[in-house]
Amino acid sequence: MTSLHIQTALLRHPQLSVALGKQVLLKMENTQPAGSFKLRGIGLLCQRAVAGGASLLVCPSGGNAGFAAAFAGAALGVKTTIVVPETTATEVCQRIRDIGAEVIVQGAVWDEANQLALKLCEQPGSVYIPPFDHPDIWDGNATMIDEAVLQAHELGVDFDVVICSVGGGGLMSGVLSGLHRNGLQHIPLIAVETEGAASLNAAVRAGELVTLPAITSIAGTLAAKRVADECFAWTRRHEVHSVTVSDAQAVAASLAFADQMRTLVEPACGAALAVAYEKLPVLAPYQRPLIVVCGGIGVSLAMLAGWKERFSL
Ligand SMILES: *Cc1c(COP(=O)(O)O)cnc(C)c1O
Repeated sequence: MTSLHIQTALLRHPQLSVALGKQVLLKMENTQPAGSFKLRGIGLLCQRAVAGGASLLVCPSGGNAGFAAAFAGAALGVKTTIVVPETTATEVCQRIRDIGAEVIVQGAVWDEANQLALKLCEQPGSVYIPPFDHPDIWDGNATMIDEAVLQAHELGVDFDVVICSVGGGGLMSGVLSGLHRNGLQHIPLIAVETEGAASLNAAVRAGELVTLPAITSIAGTLAAKRVADECFAWTRRHEVHSVTVSDAQAVAASLAFADQMRTLVEPACGAALAVAYEKLPVLAPYQRPLIVVCGGIGVSLAMLAGWKERFSL
């Protein structure tokens, strides 16, 4: 089975490397055909579902997960239904329809859209595609580390820490699975959330899984009120440093990254970059950080300009 995702570049970040006196590496997942790393995990889950006989894929997400599922469904030639809440922008619905998926708008909040998605999956042949909580998703997301290990080795810069952002924890679970399957279980992870969407940070502090009462961050992509069990479980079997940054810091990092790398990424991705741009103390012990540039389609020049003004940057 050939994969739906592509191999992405591993680049050095010249300005950040100089500014920090470190070798800063970037895994450019923003260049995936569906705009984010999500195509790795969700693509694999969809592929396995179709190989198992699925004729309808149903995904409750108007974000990067839904976009990746729609892309995967089109590539695999199966009908795909994306269920989104009424808060989803009409341009987003159109963008998903443009690649051939059906969009159903249902309910005021995600939970209501999700209820319908689950109900649609009661029909035979239909498979539910969750945004982050599935072993196939972690398995697929782990391929970015399989690649990065080889690429870093070719560059002669073996990374000594990985930085990624956390929404529901499918990315983090994949990264850690990837480190372990490549014999790199000693490489620590810096797990980044924005304040107001910090469900992993709350769980780590509480010592148990926590459901946030509300999300207040602009980083909608990181807006899981509760992380996957698997994500929290990883914090007990791997060195994970959970940190938070402000929305303003995440946006500032996206702006700096746009200028320096000529590339637009969501604040959800800016959050991970902000660990380096803000020179957070958690990074001090490491010399060769690998930042997962997770990407995201929820960004444009106009959106970045709006956030820049809103946060007086
Ligand atoms: C989905 C996503 C995340 C968070 O991933 P989780 O698996 O939900 O933790 C971060 N950034 C981008 C761009 C994403 O699409």
